[in-house]
Amino acid sequence: MKHFFLLFLTLMPLLLSAKSDKDARLVIITIDGLRWQEVFSGAEKNLLTDTKQVRDTKLYHDTYWRPTPEERREALMPFVWNTIAKKGTLIGNRDKNSMMQVANKTNISYPGYCEMMTGMADDAITSNDPVNNPHRNVLEAANENARYKGSVVMYGSWKSTRFAIHNEQAGIPASVSYERNIAKKQTPRLQMVERMLEGMPHFWRSEHFDAFTYAFAIETLLADHPKVMWISFGDCDEWAHARKYDLYLDAAKGTDAFIRDIYEALEADKFYRGKTTYLITCDHGRGFGNEWANHGSGTKGSEVTWLMLLGKGVEALGETTECGLYYTKQVAATIASILGIDFTPDDGAELLPIGE
Ligand SMILES: [Zn+2]
Repeated sequence: MKHFFLLFLTLMPLLLSAKSDKDARLVIITIDGLRWQEVFSGAEKNLLTDTKQVRDTKLYHDTYWRPTPEERREALMPFVWNTIAKKGTLIGNRDKNSMMQVANKTNISYPGYCEMMTGMADDAITSNDPVNNPHRNVLEAANENARYKGSVVMYGSWKSTRFAIHNEQAGIPASVSYERNIAKKQTPRLQMVERMLEGMPHFWRSEHFDAFTYAFAIETLLADHPKVMWISFGDCDEWAHARKYDLYLDAAKGTDAFIRDIYEALEADKFYRGKTTYLITCDHGRGFGNEWANHGSGTKGSEVTWLMLLGKGVEALGETTECGLYYTKQVAATIASILGIDFTPDDGAELLPIGE
């Protein structure tokens, strides 16, 4: 336990500086179902060499295989390991006893997002259906605060994500799954992205490709300057369910590049530069080894999640080790702390922000 308390003390100032901030900016990025195994150790050998799950094993081996986990993870997510690991904090490498998991019993997506945003796990929420979450969420609380009113927006790839924050009743503009963009100022680039989204085949029925979520999000950030945005990516989960390990890896690498682009664009913009915190996390894990494609209550290990923090108010702790167990439901309290707002989950159990 000695190590835990050492880290606990080290983590203490992580977000305290943000608490008194009267005018924060926050970008929340979720990557659906990206495993901690790939985030912290890169591509897995047995999967990378399986011709049933990788179309061109030589190409993908060359692209993603390296002798050490440190080199492999950097080949897969270079922004995470060259920038976030140096300037921010990462939680969730189980090989180093840094642990995070969901509190809900389902280990599936919609209950994961509900838990993350409402600060509680409701055992009655057991499906992925796009129905409004009955509980109050932290983004709704932000939108009720005078400092953030009308400045909280959301983009997601997968249809059900906006229902996790019952965005219509909360008054939070959101766009998911082939819906039109929600920017106040329309730009020629937004119009073009919209035409591309309309014109491309709908490969998945209730989810569009992350490239569109990224493009809508970055254009809306730069055009409208919302103070709080949730960007919800989904490609990793879809390719994993399809057991396409090559495309799953490409999606992880692509998402890393999207995150880098968003970070660099915002840090070059006066409204966001030096004032923005970036919180990146996932909604559930996946199984071990050949069970990697699956997740759910019957899949061992799929309760495991991870989290990264970067930007304003975040200590440069890098990859944490030997720390206590954090829960995805603590993300809501972490968001409240960054924004300096009060938020109590509907179950009345106030949780500590991650790192405090
Ligand atoms: Zn998911």
